[in-house]
Amino acid sequence: IAAIPAAVYMLQDQEAHAAEMERTFIAIKPDGVQRGLISEIVSRFERKGYKLVAIKLIVPSKEFAEKHYHDLKERPFFNGLCDFLSSGPVLAMVWEGEGVIKYGRKLIGATDPSKSEPGTIRGNLAVVVGRNIIHGSDGPETAKDEIALWFEPKELVSYTSNAEKWIYG
Ligand code: ADP
Repeated sequence: IAAIPAAVYMLQDQEAHAAEMERTFIAIKPDGVQRGLISEIVSRFERKGYKLVAIKLIVPSKEFAEKHYHDLKERPFFNGLCDFLSSGPVLAMVWEGEGVIKYGRKLIGATDPSKSEPGTIRGNLAVVVGRNIIHGSDGPETAKDEIALWFEPKELVSYTSNAEKWIYG
């Protein structure tokens, strides 16, 4: 009986965390896949404490790449960027966790790897902006749209990880 209040408290705590959970779209671009960096990149998200809820390896068509990068269609590098994204396998993923959209971008580092902090994925593993190995959604709306573009709802796997109580307390 003495344990019940603690159990109730824990449940409320977990529910509070569940309410703050968010999902982001992360993709390892063809350069990251070809360079054998999948395990290195996945492991950074995994070890941080984020939860993988969807993953697949696909070669996107040029049209699909254009949809993904539609916000950049006026930029001079748009065509080359879409050719590049559709030039080989892309590892598409959805990661879940508290603050994963914003902090995921921190793990990734600045767009131009010559300006990314050391310790970030791009800072450690890439050199030039046109080959910066990874994509991550830049906000909640983009995350929602990109997840819907790359994945069917049934491909997203909801599950409880036993590690969560050790990650979130
Ligand atoms: P991020 O990927 O960091 O969100 P952007 O949305 O601004 O950055 O750009 C999308 C992608 O377009 C970048 O990751 C990079 O691959 C490419 N890109 C951005 N700027 C340039 C540039 N000046 N020249 C070539 N490619 C670029």
